[in-house]
Amino acid sequence: MQRSLLIKPMLNEDYPTISYGKGIYLYDDTGKKYLDGSSGAVTASIGHQVPEIIEAMVNQASKVSFAYRSQFTSKPAEQLAEKLNELVNGEEDYFSFFVNSGSEATETAMKIAIQYWQEKGDYRKQKILSRWMSYHGITIGALSMSGHVKRRERFVPLLAEYPSISAPYCYRCPLSQTTPSCQLACAFELETAINRIGAEHIAAFIAEPIVGASGAALVPPEGYYEKIADICERYNILFIADEVMTGLGRTGKRFGLDHWNVKPDIIALGKGMSAGYTPIAATLVSEKVMEPIINGSASIMSGHTYSANPQSAAISLAVLEYIEKQRLTEKAEEIGSYLFHKLQEVAKDVAIIGDIRGKGLLLGLEFVQDRKTKQPFEAKLALTDLIVKKARENGLLLYPAAAGKDGVQGDAVIIAPPFIITKEETDQLIRILKETLIEIE
Ligand code: PLP
Repeated sequence: MQRSLLIKPMLNEDYPTISYGKGIYLYDDTGKKYLDGSSGAVTASIGHQVPEIIEAMVNQASKVSFAYRSQFTSKPAEQLAEKLNELVNGEEDYFSFFVNSGSEATETAMKIAIQYWQEKGDYRKQKILSRWMSYHGITIGALSMSGHVKRRERFVPLLAEYPSISAPYCYRCPLSQTTPSCQLACAFELETAINRIGAEHIAAFIAEPIVGASGAALVPPEGYYEKIADICERYNILFIADEVMTGLGRTGKRFGLDHWNVKPDIIALGKGMSAGYTPIAATLVSEKVMEPIINGSASIMSGHTYSANPQSAAISLAVLEYIEKQRLTEKAEEIGSYLFHKLQEVAKDVAIIGDIRGKGLLLGLEFVQDRKTKQPFEAKLALTDLIVKKARENGLLLYPAAAGKDGVQGDAVIIAPPFIITKEETDQLIRILKETLIEIE
């Protein structure tokens, strides 16, 4: 191993050195080519080195890159807020608060929910409910809401919240039920939790429309989110959708929740907002939530130095316009169905694939020793890491999604290539994946 002062995820591992990216491929400094089968961390949704985005970057940089939000507003930031509102396409307008990462977006959502009740004169509603098998970010507030045991473990004394209900994980139902006879028992858990804690203490409930990092693309049963939204409304609790992974085309719709026609009170966005071209994220706040704030203190008590900087805003705007012009959300749906079907074919020859799930280009594979009994592999095998490593050696990048004790009770990966992937490139992805899994079996 070479001496390095850079703190990488695993300090005892060597990583290839990135040289450049083009389309759905990344190249290291030895010239080795990798098919970006996970868009990095489900981020690079429009692929690498898109000329229109580079042009927007240079254009904005040639005017001004940074202006502080308490001193200036900017055209790109104003236009980006308009564009995001247009994309939500709700009955009411959604206002944008810009931040730099998904963690900041969910943490800001948490704070705004609490502030909303305070502005209405209610200082008791401070708790945020969430689910196990969830990931809302790594900063302390975001981690508090996250049901990801491995990432929480070291910091438990600092965490303000504890997830209170199960995830809709139908492959291994945490409530030992099956759909549809369960009658959405996992959604009704929210009502039970609210009754135990007391709605008067609860500001909001947060959920990822399709669970990503902690569950490998868990899709809830039909009717689940309608039920959740109904419970939140009946008990006077805000509903926060964490669309950091699912938002902006990834699942074949503009937002993950659009699959169920439910509009949340607050939306957290990140990742695909700039498709990796710059760090930017956002908390979108409905008029209903903004109203008492506008008429009250008239200020949201949060913010970061780089919030709403014109450079990142211009880049994000260019990415969203590119997605629209190229009809990439529709493409994600089409090619996602093709990929799903191809994965089903792979499963005929690869016995360790236990479940294939997800929507659009957010797909998950869960691995088992025995498909009938769903017996997971032993944790000490670290199969997910093996698969991800072997795939990378073979020139395919995958995203590890197993979450140890709380999450998938074994091993899983997310497959989430850029929306621009063609059928031929999808076939190539499938070929490398199949080769890799057969080598491992
Ligand atoms: N929320 C969800 C659903 C995520 O998937 C992630 C990251 O994986 C986050 C929040 C945190 O985002 P970031 O890593 O940009 O802080």
